[in-house]
Amino acid sequence: MKVIPYGRQCIEKDDIQEVIQVLQSDFLTTGPKVEEFEKAVAEYCGARYGVAVSSGTAALHIACLAAGLGSGDEVITSPITFAASANCALYCGAKPVFADICPDTYNINPIEIEQKITNRTKALIPVHYTGQPCQMEEIHKIARKHDLLVIEDAAHALGSRYRGQRIGGLSDMTCFSFHPVKHITTAEGGMVLTNDQALYESLKRYRTHGITREEHLLHQNPGSWYYEQLELGFNYRLSDLQSALGISQLKKLPQFIKRRKEIAAYYKEAFALVPEVITPYQRTECDNSYHLYVIQVPAEKRATLFEKLRGDGIGVNVHYIPVYQHPYYQENGYRQVVCPCAESLYEGMISLPMHPMLTQEEQDYVIERVKAHL
Ligand SMILES: *Cc1c(COP(=O)(O)O)cnc(C)c1O
Repeated sequence: MKVIPYGRQCIEKDDIQEVIQVLQSDFLTTGPKVEEFEKAVAEYCGARYGVAVSSGTAALHIACLAAGLGSGDEVITSPITFAASANCALYCGAKPVFADICPDTYNINPIEIEQKITNRTKALIPVHYTGQPCQMEEIHKIARKHDLLVIEDAAHALGSRYRGQRIGGLSDMTCFSFHPVKHITTAEGGMVLTNDQALYESLKRYRTHGITREEHLLHQNPGSWYYEQLELGFNYRLSDLQSALGISQLKKLPQFIKRRKEIAAYYKEAFALVPEVITPYQRTECDNSYHLYVIQVPAEKRATLFEKLRGDGIGVNVHYIPVYQHPYYQENGYRQVVCPCAESLYEGMISLPMHPMLTQEEQDYVIERVKAHL
């Protein structure tokens, strides 16, 4: 049986052609395509600088490093997210602290953030869950009041808008992922956007071993062959091959988002009269580019519905298990953590197929099966 996935890439002939051209060129990894991709994403999102990296996780990691996070520091994020949003703090020796979510949007609740702030808090990592922007005005207000950096995990939110402005240029740093289920893909890949030149320089160093050739940063300068490692960085580079794919994909993003919004509107209408299905709530100041389509069903019916839909060849998923409930977190100091709203909403969540390649016929089938099993 052919499975209808919850998300998947859309790769066409012209995308393939762009990658082949790079294969025939002088540069496979760091060449002209990386910078071209960085500029294109930054321009699209309304940010000054982009630093392309090997994954969304790498983007979050170097953002935390550039933010100066280290042992003793605390970072506040959402429990309803992919583990990478919190792991990035742990990589730096900092401690992720979970603030509960809003019952309507499932995004981190600004009121809960305030309650979690201590004198060790150094950064906030809001996650734009499913693509719906968090309440950034409230979050920035808290950040200013307590002198915190804001690193947006925008892995779900490429092309989303908050009060008319695209996600990407609103905070100190914004991280994207180009994994195949996300809005555009480079296979693996990610990017950090920033408007701050010092953060930009720092992010570029952390991407490549902490190495610099910038003259004004060198401690001595015996010749043009010379470079220095200033910090402990990584090899998190994105290749020219991948960047070429990303450039080609970005051109199609408006159409991809248009299709995603159509799919969301169609689901909403189809389930409008089904009392057991709660469709996503949409804040008026937020424009969602719909990475995911997450419905709520009665908790006692979720497991059966999930298995039945899988049995029908529908690749439903659950986004996400509250991060602190994973054994790694439980075994490392998170046994006492409780986010009641996240825990109860998690019990009813199901992600339905949502991607630009989903056909009308497939969507009708998904809707019909959900209704049949409830
Ligand atoms: C996909 C995702 C990431 C990680 O991105 P990768 O490119 O897979 O490393 C981080 N945060 C969220 C919310 C994601 O959905």
